Amino acid sequence: MREHTFTVTLPEQWGEGIVTFESGSELDLDVRLESVHEGILVSGSADGEYVGVCGRCLTDISEPVEVEFQELFAYPGEEETDFEVQDDHVDLETLVRDAAVLSLPFQPVCQPDCLGLDPVTGERLTESTGTEQAAPIDPRWSALQQITDQDGTAESRAAEKEES
Ligand SMILES: [Zn+2]
Repeated sequence: MREHTFTVTLPEQWGEGIVTFESGSELDLDVRLESVHEGILVSGSADGEYVGVCGRCLTDISEPVEVEFQELFAYPGEEETDFEVQDDHVDLETLVRDAAVLSLPFQPVCQPDCLGLDPVTGERLTESTGTEQAAPIDPRWSALQQITDQDGTAESRAAEKEES
């Protein structure tokens, strides 16, 4: 049995939907090769990130994903198989690519309760979940808020003021 860990850079885009693995993005692969009677059993996982837009409100999104795969690569024989050991090598591209593309969500969303776009104005109905919250802060948490303010937010705000 052999184990390999390596990173590949995608030479082309994987996937055709509104979220894809971009050309030039990286996949971290963890692959285990086991010698079995009929061939080589390949199993492993690939870590990557898909990018695209929310299917409801068109906000840019990106999400890390882990893809699992397993396939038996048979030694060349009389029976035709999809995956074969060729010249003592296994070509993982089709296997990993298919698993990765299948892992892409059909209806990706920026957040599970995204409300999408207003049918009349076309504006986004969901507020961003960023750090800026429009809702008033619970007074019981205000002490913590002061700490965060001292801790960098104050600095970045000062920087913003200088810029404007
Ligand atoms: Zn959305």
